[in-house]
Amino acid sequence: MAPKKTVRAAPMKTPKLLFLDSPYTVAKATDAELARARKILGSILAAKGRRTLENTLAPYDAIMMAISEVGLQGQVLFNAHTDTAVRDAANKAYLAADSLQTELSLNRRLYEAFAALNVSREDGETRYAVSKILRDFSRAGVDKDEATRAKIKALNDEIAEIGSTFDRIINEDMRSITLEAEEELTGLPADYIAAHRPKGGGKITITTAYPDAIPVFQYAANADVRRRLQREFYDRGYPKNLEVLARLLARRHELARLLGYDHYAAYVTEDKMIGSAKAAADFVEKIVRASAGRTKQDYEILVERKRRDTPAATALDPWDSNYYLERVRAEQYRFDSQEVRPYLEFGKVRDGIFEITSTLFGVRYRRVRDAKVWHPSVEVYDVTEGGRRLGRFYLDLHPRDGKFSHAAMFPVLVGLQGRQLPQAALLCNFPDPGKTAGPALMEHTDVVTFFHEFGHLLHAILSGHTRWIKTSMEGIEWDFVEAPSQMLEEWVRRPEGLQRFAKHHETGEPIPEELVERMVGRGLWVQRQVFFAALSLAYYSRDPDGLDTTAVAKELNAKYYPVPWYEGTHFQCNFGHLNGYSAVYYTYLWSLVIAKDLFSRFAKAESILEPATARRYRKEVLEAASVRPAAEMVRRFLGRRTTFDAFRAWLNEGAG
Ligand SMILES: [Zn+2]
Repeated sequence: MAPKKTVRAAPMKTPKLLFLDSPYTVAKATDAELARARKILGSILAAKGRRTLENTLAPYDAIMMAISEVGLQGQVLFNAHTDTAVRDAANKAYLAADSLQTELSLNRRLYEAFAALNVSREDGETRYAVSKILRDFSRAGVDKDEATRAKIKALNDEIAEIGSTFDRIINEDMRSITLEAEEELTGLPADYIAAHRPKGGGKITITTAYPDAIPVFQYAANADVRRRLQREFYDRGYPKNLEVLARLLARRHELARLLGYDHYAAYVTEDKMIGSAKAAADFVEKIVRASAGRTKQDYEILVERKRRDTPAATALDPWDSNYYLERVRAEQYRFDSQEVRPYLEFGKVRDGIFEITSTLFGVRYRRVRDAKVWHPSVEVYDVTEGGRRLGRFYLDLHPRDGKFSHAAMFPVLVGLQGRQLPQAALLCNFPDPGKTAGPALMEHTDVVTFFHEFGHLLHAILSGHTRWIKTSMEGIEWDFVEAPSQMLEEWVRRPEGLQRFAKHHETGEPIPEELVERMVGRGLWVQRQVFFAALSLAYYSRDPDGLDTTAVAKELNAKYYPVPWYEGTHFQCNFGHLNGYSAVYYTYLWSLVIAKDLFSRFAKAESILEPATARRYRKEVLEAASVRPAAEMVRRFLGRRTTFDAFRAWLNEGAG
């Protein structure tokens, strides 16, 4: 037996850009890091003799680490820094990193170095990493002539720049409506009304930031208030992003054609689990067939409830669905979100996530109080196991002007075995305990989002110990990436998980079981996801010349979603996934089908908090990162191929 290789513990490195606070220092650090990457490239190309892991793959990974250092942290600063000038510099940093990455993907000599590297006697992980690198060279267009490669390079740079403009316009377009009197907030929780007292001129301001807007959509009895706010919400990014989106679609189409594909959807699905745009479209239709009955039923229940307020109503208005869903849940299913809120105080929820995931995965979170941060509200934690550090994360969880307005996990440093520990950040927009007069109470949907994003975070930390970058999270099939996060949501959808931490902020009582279940609305929710998925595929599956994005959105809304389109609004202008996910929004549904199947293993155990299943899941799925294809990871955990059954059962649970 060969002696077991001892793996050097990886150090916790200080991120090179993340805490810089002037445009000058950001630019300087970017230049230095990318110059270092170029120098390593020089050494790879200059290597004499046989190609080896030491003179090719290892230094290539060092280049990729330098590029991702700049690119990932540039993205965090771009989305989170308070100073516009720093956000600008961070955006330039990200674009420079992206540009160098494209340049390398088209570098013929670098490609030839890999083509000459014989890995047939290496381990499976190494062989898989190199096969993915070679595939990516070919997908990037490395085999094209020099003029074409120059064009591909210019297009990629332009696409990155257009994409960040699209994102920035969404981030910076926070809107508001003003109300004349408190009566207009009838139906909203007392703590919400207390936090929205009339200010200058006796008016109440309600912004489109999630903690402001979502309660209005859910609870405001005044339909006109919902109508006004919904208009602003759907029009964030409009009109500027209408033209930006058109350019984004046009350039991506041009790139796909240049690379030999019919359209961008064909290109971008090729290296995913789903494999083709046709398979993605078929998958969306399969979901429609599975959910059509449930959706119709959901919709009719809501319209019927609306008739009690408006006897002549035959349909919902676009600002009605969240409101009537809440009414029906409260009145017919005894699930009143307002009754749930007092159990969901922000600090308790955060501690609850920590406790549940610690129990499941055997890790601990240790607050790091002296670590640097980019804003005083950011909290830093080390993830440890048996005294050993596994990684670090940053929680930036409350709204600020100019900050990313949605919720997402951002990797900060890619973790690699023996090289560096993984680090990641959550940027979210939850109620801020520092800004509310009383306790910061969350909506149940916020708590689901928190668990979802924390699922991504754990995935980033636990997967950050592979040997190569291409087998880390970086090399994962993108349409699998929402499965671990959507699966973690299950723990707050069930009493056993929720009751662990959801205690009333005044009485300390755990949340009653009947407040947890809320099955009505699943069909509508799935169908909304179908609309998003179909829209993202439709925009990218054609020549966008002359494409009217609003008309297509309206047409697909009518085809897939029973709630009517809000005439005169432009939701696509703030559909941020159209940049980051392009054609592959179906990822959420695809991953959801897998997540439900993965969770069926937990549901079978005596308790969903039982660690044995979670440890096996950690090993076979989370830690495996992308050392093998995702389908195989899932098969190893389930002991069979994934099926549609658990998803279908979930969808129809409680259906009448
Ligand atoms: Zn997600």
